[in-house]
Amino acid sequence: MKECLFCKIVNKEIPSTVVYEDDEILAFKDINPIAPVHILVIPKKHYNDITELPENEAEIIAKIHVVINKIAKEQGISETGFRIINNCKEDGGQEVKHIHFHLIGGKKLGTKMC
Ligand code: AMP
Ligand code: ZN
Repeated sequence: MKECLFCKIVNKEIPSTVVYEDDEILAFKDINPIAPVHILVIPKKHYNDITELPENEAEIIAKIHVVINKIAKEQGISETGFRIINNCKEDGGQEVKHIHFHLIGGKKLGTKMC
């Protein structure tokens, strides 16, 4: 999508610190990290949010979680633990309208969910 920030990152029109890339998935460091490890994992294909993902394309979410496991191991947080967050739309606090999963860890996280 032309005006989407994360599509621009996928297309390398905007720089990012990439930690993983394959044909379908990109993972890069969040520009404003809230923990020692804060990585965004996205499908390269644009969907505004999780509600727009067609059922027959849902496999990408499983693949993203496999990638998250891989990155967590590389980042050394696989044993200590981490949190995966997907913000969806207004009430969910989504700022960038391109599906993304936050991988957050490297410290003891708070227990508040909202
Ligand atoms: P959300 O609130 O779930 O939409 O999260 C959007 C995330 O994108 C925030 O954590 C931002 O810090 C992050 N972000 C915004 N612009 C960039 C960028 N150019 N590179 C990396 N992360 C970004
Ligand atoms: Zn996009």
